[in-house]
Amino acid sequence: MKISPPDALVSAIAPAVADFLKAPKMLIGRDQVAAAKGATYPVYNPATGLELAQVPAGTAEDVDLAVRAAQAAFTGPWSQMLPVTRQNLMLKLAQLIEDNGEELAQLETLNNGKSIMLSRLVEVQSSAEYIRYMAGWATKIQGSTLDVSIAIPPGMQYQAYTRKEAVGVVAAITPWNFPLNMAVWKIAPALAAGCTVVLKPAEETPLTSMRLAQLCLEAGFPEGVVNVITGMGEDAGAPLVAHPGIAKITFTGSTETGKLIGVQAMKDMKRVTLELGGKAPMVMFDDMDLDLLGAAAGIGAFFNSGQTCCAGTRIYAQKGIYEKALEVIANVTRSLPIGPGLNPGNQINPVVSARHQAHVKACIARGIEQGAKPVIGGSAPEAGFYVAPELFTDVRQDMGLMQEEIFGPVVTMTPFDDPEDAIRMANDTRYGLGASIWTSDLNKMMRYVPRIQAGTVWVNSHNIPDQNMPFGGVKQSGIGREHGAGALDNYLETKSVCIAYR
Ligand code: NAD
Repeated sequence: MKISPPDALVSAIAPAVADFLKAPKMLIGRDQVAAAKGATYPVYNPATGLELAQVPAGTAEDVDLAVRAAQAAFTGPWSQMLPVTRQNLMLKLAQLIEDNGEELAQLETLNNGKSIMLSRLVEVQSSAEYIRYMAGWATKIQGSTLDVSIAIPPGMQYQAYTRKEAVGVVAAITPWNFPLNMAVWKIAPALAAGCTVVLKPAEETPLTSMRLAQLCLEAGFPEGVVNVITGMGEDAGAPLVAHPGIAKITFTGSTETGKLIGVQAMKDMKRVTLELGGKAPMVMFDDMDLDLLGAAAGIGAFFNSGQTCCAGTRIYAQKGIYEKALEVIANVTRSLPIGPGLNPGNQINPVVSARHQAHVKACIARGIEQGAKPVIGGSAPEAGFYVAPELFTDVRQDMGLMQEEIFGPVVTMTPFDDPEDAIRMANDTRYGLGASIWTSDLNKMMRYVPRIQAGTVWVNSHNIPDQNMPFGGVKQSGIGREHGAGALDNYLETKSVCIAYR
């Protein structure tokens, strides 16, 4: 095991983090364990490109043990627990996340590369808040009473009601871009609903999920309620999806993997929620508040170094403001400080892996070959997995830059004259996760929001999810919604109860 010799910033790393990195373990039941076969694989510090830790390479054997532990907990202590006790355990977990917040944030930044500011705000703070939000729902699960019109046999009367019941053991499979936060988006509603969970985090970024598992034990969750298996998608994720003990799969990741999982899930009629890729448009009208252009670039396009499923990567600006918008957004792009996430001043940080760095760079190179014009041409640190942010003009709708999910700091800008063209181009994608419209005209907003094919449309902002706002995609961006009261339904079955009486 090697801890990356750092940049000077690593002297600030908490001793608890260095200690955790020595031997991170999976959680099965109450046991923190290595993989059954004893194999491990390396995870890296994207800021240096060096190995950060060795992580258990879980396989079907580990998955089976974890699912059995989750089944035992589901039919055992967890099913007996009062909703208010579930709620209180979740509140305790949220508190522990906050109490260990700096340690978790450092771990996330070391493993994912992202800004420590984002680790603190999104991975830690917003995760704790989401657990509290969902904890509240544990005590508010309700069915309804139903009048029915059944008339046989004569003389009998009927009353019906519905019960909402936990679906069973949940397989939660998460991506690398918001590792702790995505784990919590799945675990929190599942626990509130009364399910037990086997979490399989992305192979690149498992560390905060493994630490979360320890905090679940510390919070007092019965053994087996939360289990974490690490490993490759094919070796650990696929057997988890196929395991007969799984009742529900909740997946966030690429559209390609989502399709594989959806097909597999249907073979056994498992319930499934899929949050997949995106290629979000930002449509800017002539009458927009130009003071918002900076935020559009910084938060809309380059948040998390562009590794956001809702990243506003395709900007369509109306001709009256196009030149001004291009100038401002290009200046913002040039001015974004680039460097290690541990330095809170850096807004562009390394992407997650050498493989992903190669992918983003290849997308940029292909765009240039096809005739798109790079406006910035910046440079990035040599060591580590950096990609300098780039802004392209002269991009055709059929180019990869417009159609492929690059998932890095790469943005296109295209002028339009007729709003109908902007709407057509905005919708010209297989994806439909996020989108935004920028206008000061209420009429335009009301007219065009319904015409945009996306699960979320922001107006005069972009990339801002909220725990109370349903989140998910249309078209190939997925099936189902997370967040809000509806997220609980992803983990509940409705049972009709029909009572006959004389
Ligand atoms: P990915 O699809 O490569 O991997 C996601 C997870 O699936 C990982 O845990 C991986 O190990 C696992 N996996 C891979 N193959 C599997 C298989 N055959 N069976 C079961 N599990 C398998 O995605 P990624 O590269 O980690 O994440 C980036 C993607 O996630 C992007 O497409 C992004 O848009 C998407 N994403 C979507 C949302 C959303 O809410 N819609 C949020 C964040 C990220």
